[in-house]
Formats: sequence, structure tokens, C-alpha cells
Amino acid sequence: MQITFWGVRGSYPVPGAATVRYGGQTSCVEVRSDSGDCIIVDAGTGMRALGNKLAGEAAGQPGQYHVLLSHVHWDHIQGLPFFSPAYVPGTRISVYALLTAADELNQVIGGITRHEFFPLPLESVPANFDFQKVEPGLDFVIGAFHVTPIALNHPFGSVGYRIDADGASWAYVADTAPFDQVLHKQHFLPGPEPLSADDKTALEAMHAALVQRLQGVDTVVYDTHFLPEEYARFPHYGHSTPDQALDICAEAMVRRLVLYHHAPAHTDDQMDQIAARYLAKGATRGIEVLTSFEGMSIPIGPTADDSVEEPTHPGTGVHDVPQVPK
Ligand SMILES: [Zn+2]
Ligand SMILES: [Zn+2]
Repeated sequence: MQITFWGVRGSYPVPGAATVRYGGQTSCVEVRSDSGDCIIVDAGTGMRALGNKLAGEAAGQPGQYHVLLSHVHWDHIQGLPFFSPAYVPGTRISVYALLTAADELNQVIGGITRHEFFPLPLESVPANFDFQKVEPGLDFVIGAFHVTPIALNHPFGSVGYRIDADGASWAYVADTAPFDQVLHKQHFLPGPEPLSADDKTALEAMHAALVQRLQGVDTVVYDTHFLPEEYARFPHYGHSTPDQALDICAEAMVRRLVLYHHAPAHTDDQMDQIAARYLAKGATRGIEVLTSFEGMSIPIGPTADDSVEEPTHPGTGVHDVPQVPK
């Protein structure tokens, strides 16, 4: 199995001179099994270039695509209308989202493609979409992949995924705050709320379930949006720090952590410093820390040589790509 990062930013895209090395596109990861099965995790703006690559591979033929969404915040869905395989008639796109979000998914995706926002409404897109509900605790199978949804602590809820295939596994843990205050059912609040006994129990259960599901996983990709000093100012935004991710990995005895969902304000130079700081910090705990960048591919599993490939440049392949509305 192999994972490739097409977008590594949180919140909003930040193209520009200060982000050319780590990339400015938002959340999107391509997962490939050894047999070539593919799933896409999150549909941020990185999905556009991935779509161009997949459309080139399909050479004009309709395909079947599976998109797992962590949740439906902008930075996780904005690439979907620009996914070029959707404009090939006969293509099927299955979108998976949390139970509550999936109920509204047709409206959400239909909403962002309403005529005020986009030239082509969802019902006129040539591909057939179906929306699948995901519930933590209910595993499911897509081709070669066994998928385990994991509840996370984020405003209005979010779901992580453990993905097993080819005798190996990795986990996608975004977006999530740590488990010391309730975010998953709240509106935006200016600060932490006092915890009720029920809240405490629910958070402990969520934390324990996450650690349990991460056990035995080769690699964890984790929402590490904030540095500790930034987190102290915005604990209610629903994101974590690399330190908090290291604690979770240590508890689950995971030996490789990938920093992900980088804050848009972090420039390449800052990202270099973060990467070096946490590589060293992880080493003291026996955890290899990689910092994701656009185009990074990681082999997962025992057959992997554990090396990170040279970055490719998403979207620069010369493919005959279907016309996407602008
Ligand atoms: Zn996000
Ligand atoms: Zn979010």
C-alpha cells in the first residue's frame, strides 16, 4: 500500500512563494493498494490535481471512485467540484461521510455547486454520485481496503479512518482537538466550557477508542495544525499540536507519525523548523516523525523500504483531461 499527499494544509489554500516546498493545497490523500485499488481521503483543493492524474490514467473511460470525507468543512470538500473524472459520463463517485453529515451531504455538495457559486449544478454533473453514511464502530470494505472509522473531537464532529490493506495499515486522524474539552457537539465558542461528568466520560471513551484503533498501525497521519504556543490561544478551534499527536502515538505504540493539516500561516521556512524540531522530539520517544508536503509518497507496510520518495509535482503530468467548469 502507498499513500500520496495532494494537499497538506488546513483551513484554506495558500499558494505562493512562501509555500512552494510544502505546498498550499488543502487536505487530500490518495491511497493505493498493491493491486492498484484506489481510495481518496478528503476532498480539499489538492483533489483537483489528483483528479487530473486519475482522469489521465482512465484515458477517457468512466471509472469508479471512492472518497472518504473526515467532515464537510471547506478545506475538506472544496476540490470535489473540480475533480475532472466527475465530468466523464458513466463515472460513479461514492462519497463517504459521518452519519450526520451524510444525511445532509447531498445538500452540502449540491449547495456548493448551486448556480450562484458554480456554473454546473450537481444534478447536471455527468458522474453519478452516491452518498454513504459512516458510523464509528461500523467497519466496511472498499476493494482491497478494510476501513475502520474513528470518532474524533472537532466542532460538529469529524471521523478518522484506519485503513488496512496488503497486510499493512495506516490511519488518517484529521481534524481533531485533544480530548480535554468537548468540541464535537458545540457551536463556535470563545473558550473552553466546563465539562460535565457525561462529557468527561464521552471524551475518555473517544480517546480510548482512538488509541485502541491505532494499535498495530504502521503510520499515523495526524492533524498537527498548531504549535503549542498557537494552540494555547485557540484551543477551541478543533486542532492538535505535534506534541499531542506524539502522546497519542506513544500510547498506541505507533512508531511513525506524519504531521499534516499544516496551519496556512506556516511558511516553508517555519515548516522546516517544525519538521526538524519534531523529528528530534520524536526520536527521543522512538517515533519517526515525517512532515507531509505536497507530492510526498510513503510506502506503508512490511514490504516498504521505509524511505520517502522524491517529491513529484502533482498536476504537472501531460494528460488529456476532461473539461472542468471554472
Ligand atoms: Zn480542516
Ligand atoms: Zn474542520
